[in-house]
Amino acid sequence: MRIVEARISIGVVASPRDSFDCQILEGLVKLPENRECADCQSKAPRWASVNLGIFICMQCSGIHRSLGVHISKVRSTTLDTWLPEQVAFMQCMGNKRSNKYWEAELPPDYDRSEIQKFIYTKYSEKRWAAKDAPQPGFGDINLCPVSKKPLEGGSKACIPKKMRNFSLEEEILTSHVAPALPPPTRHRGVSSNSS
Ligand SMILES: [Zn+2]
Repeated sequence: MRIVEARISIGVVASPRDSFDCQILEGLVKLPENRECADCQSKAPRWASVNLGIFICMQCSGIHRSLGVHISKVRSTTLDTWLPEQVAFMQCMGNKRSNKYWEAELPPDYDRSEIQKFIYTKYSEKRWAAKDAPQPGFGDINLCPVSKKPLEGGSKACIPKKMRNFSLEEEILTSHVAPALPPPTRHRGVSSNSS
């Protein structure tokens, strides 16, 4: 019985193993507006700033971390655990909408080659942010009509449903250990105890 309770409490946090949130995130990074890093515009970003609502590349994620969590909270779309409201906020925001605010006054031909300076100026100094609009943030989530249906095309890339074959204890253990580790294989450490 204790095990069941533990599982329920863990279930509050969505991990990439949760196929529903997994599908949403995978679907979001495939949207045309999110296919390029919000800052350096490199292809296929797999990291995110959950409070800014943007998808960014690994290099830019390191720079975002250096800004401090009061400006940007970085998470991996594939490795980290996500709260359901964080996933919903990413759905609500995204790179296009976010940059509409943060790059409102950015010259179109601006040279982003000094990316660290660019990111600092963009988010810390807010140099190019829209003057006539409030900074978008988590509070806007109620204004967004967020669909609860998984977006198209995201079902394959996530942690497979093999996870279902783990024993309950194993699944809980994995949930605790998972964020820092790659997905466990089916065979490693699977107890042969049958229930
Ligand atoms: Zn980048």
